Amino acid sequence: MADGPDPRHDILFEPVQIGPVTAPNRFYQVPHCTGMGYRYPRSLAAMRGMKAAGGWGIVCTEYCSIDPSSDESPHNTAALWDSDDIGRMRLITDAVHAHGSLAGVELWAGGIGTPNLLTRVPSPAVRSMPAVLDPVQSRAMDLDDIRAFRRQHRLAVRRARESGFDIVYVYPCHGYLLTQMMSRAHNQRSDEYGGSLENRVRLVRELLEDAREEAGNQMAVAIRFSADGHGEVHMGADEAMDAIRMLAHLPDLWDVTIGDYAHEMGSSMFTPPGTLEGHAAQVREITGKPVVTVGRFTSPDAMVGPIRRGAQDLIGAARPSIADPFLPAKIRTGRSDDIRECIGCNICYASDERSVPIRCTQNPTMGEEWRRGWHPERVERDNDGDTVLIVGAGPAGLEAARILGLRGFAVTIAEATREAGGRVTRESRLPGLAEWARVRDYRVNQIRAMTNIDLYLDSRMRPDDVLEFGARHVLVATGSAWRADGTGRVHPLPVPGFEHPGVSTPDAVMDGDLPTGPVLIFDDDHYYMASVLAQKLATEGLAVTYVTPASRPAPWLEHTLEQEQTHRTLLQLGVTIVTGHRVAGFDGEAVIAVCEVTGDEQRITARSVVPVTSREPSDILYHNLRARAEELERAGTETLIRAGDCEAPGIIATAIHAGHRIGRELGLASVPAVRREAQGA
Ligand code: ADP
Ligand code: SF4
Repeated sequence: MADGPDPRHDILFEPVQIGPVTAPNRFYQVPHCTGMGYRYPRSLAAMRGMKAAGGWGIVCTEYCSIDPSSDESPHNTAALWDSDDIGRMRLITDAVHAHGSLAGVELWAGGIGTPNLLTRVPSPAVRSMPAVLDPVQSRAMDLDDIRAFRRQHRLAVRRARESGFDIVYVYPCHGYLLTQMMSRAHNQRSDEYGGSLENRVRLVRELLEDAREEAGNQMAVAIRFSADGHGEVHMGADEAMDAIRMLAHLPDLWDVTIGDYAHEMGSSMFTPPGTLEGHAAQVREITGKPVVTVGRFTSPDAMVGPIRRGAQDLIGAARPSIADPFLPAKIRTGRSDDIRECIGCNICYASDERSVPIRCTQNPTMGEEWRRGWHPERVERDNDGDTVLIVGAGPAGLEAARILGLRGFAVTIAEATREAGGRVTRESRLPGLAEWARVRDYRVNQIRAMTNIDLYLDSRMRPDDVLEFGARHVLVATGSAWRADGTGRVHPLPVPGFEHPGVSTPDAVMDGDLPTGPVLIFDDDHYYMASVLAQKLATEGLAVTYVTPASRPAPWLEHTLEQEQTHRTLLQLGVTIVTGHRVAGFDGEAVIAVCEVTGDEQRITARSVVPVTSREPSDILYHNLRARAEELERAGTETLIRAGDCEAPGIIATAIHAGHRIGRELGLASVPAVRREAQGA
């Protein structure tokens, strides 16, 4: 544990002047999606307020629609359409101001790509083009429309001011309306808004000027801008720099991003931290204004570097602030070892993609601040040493132990293997997943610091051991195992031939038992496991064929912004990809693959097969103990429960959440209700 605040980190706590407002420190939560928006106002306000409570000096909203003509339903955006929205936004600004932080709002208009499925009005845009997913097109704006648009934007700035915001964004990046306006390809106009760069940037300039007028001395005006343009066809890097020069003096703050969103918020599988520093430094030099940028900064040393090097003034963070809302407070009080570092898995983003409130692998309280009343750091000490035995030190078991320890229980964790961490420990050894070990490391560190928790490794528990232990509460968190028989989404029954010894499992491969090549990986899971194993085996020199019933490899990785790069990596490694096929048999020489559409069969040569289809809960211990209820009672055990993958296999975030929930709820006379937001209520 650290011995106190480190003076080298003092620089992070210096105030920063941003136009008419002063940020209390350099910790800047940049705008980030939450899957909440105007539909979950109380949840959102409690979550943003928590960031401010944890020391983030600036806390921003997600993209905030200025008008019903920009509606991303079923995605949940913030909105400033009318006075009702002002009331909802006030909840946020009040929650942020209560801790002395500044609140920022990122005004947004969608243009091409935004289908307006709720409001059902045509989306105004630089030209009429199809929406991203839906068979509808945007409406080309004429000069009257542009004037109307400026007025809408101005009114939204006014509402932002009336809502109490301190920073208002003009938002010409991430491909939305203002980016399209600046695009050489999309902007084919012959009026004063088309043609030269100056003309294409005109609307952005006007919005900045309008915003400045409306903001007065109450709000700073920020711009979020891609320093390397938006791809050659739209706006190359040189043009982006020219545009930045043209606009340099207008905003009070430059929030620097890049054109490739999958890199800007790249997962740890593909993107190392701190890659935008060069872009930030360039913009800072050109504009002379305060600059913020992100880079998955999770430690104070990583944050101090770019400030000292003069690359940026403020440390931008979305994910590090999600994983640990109290990151700044921990640095300030010399508790950097207690930071819950983001692992770069992008499950937070996936929730927004799925149009549900945000969640986080590392921080199970994310999104639960109002709904369940969970605080990321505070757990009431309400127990005086009741004994709990936790079987299994995977994510579920470790997180439950951490919370039960904080509550005052006397906790024993028994883990069968020689290492804590369960699946996280094994998976973090796979290509690109090393940072995932932070899920284990954070929890083991916290547990080691508590005297009322004992962790025993190499201690496989059988029912008799549990009975002999005689804990008052027993939590079984024994995880799950990948099925070898191919059952899953497309195969409700085992695949013929999968009882052959050449059929392996992901668990066996992770344990170092490499299959014989050529190997066929059958992916009916659609998340990362199959493609990561394919990468591993191909890198080991095996000939790998990847077969999936899906129309492209690992489609769920779309939600974490990793699908494209995964697909590219597989191709670069020489993996043969067969999409749209299930498997119908294996004889040790070949797999029969069947086309999902035509039913046509083909033989694919393979000496071994790794099915990645579904998992079997490892719940034998739980069921054996349940069958011995009377003996448990005689042993003094009142509660027998299970949590995590042994109950219902899922993603790591689900196991952490389950462990956390049980940690908070074990032994309570009644479980607190889960609050829901009802619109209009
Ligand atoms: P979860 O994600 O639900 O936490 P994991 O599979 O990651 O599940 O972790 C389960 C852990 O439980 C593994 O580390 C495994 O070794 C351990 N385990 C399984 N059965 C037993 C047992 N009978 N006794 C002790 N530990 C066990
Ligand atoms: Fe980081 Fe993953 Fe949490 Fe997102 S979900 S903040 S990427 S740990």
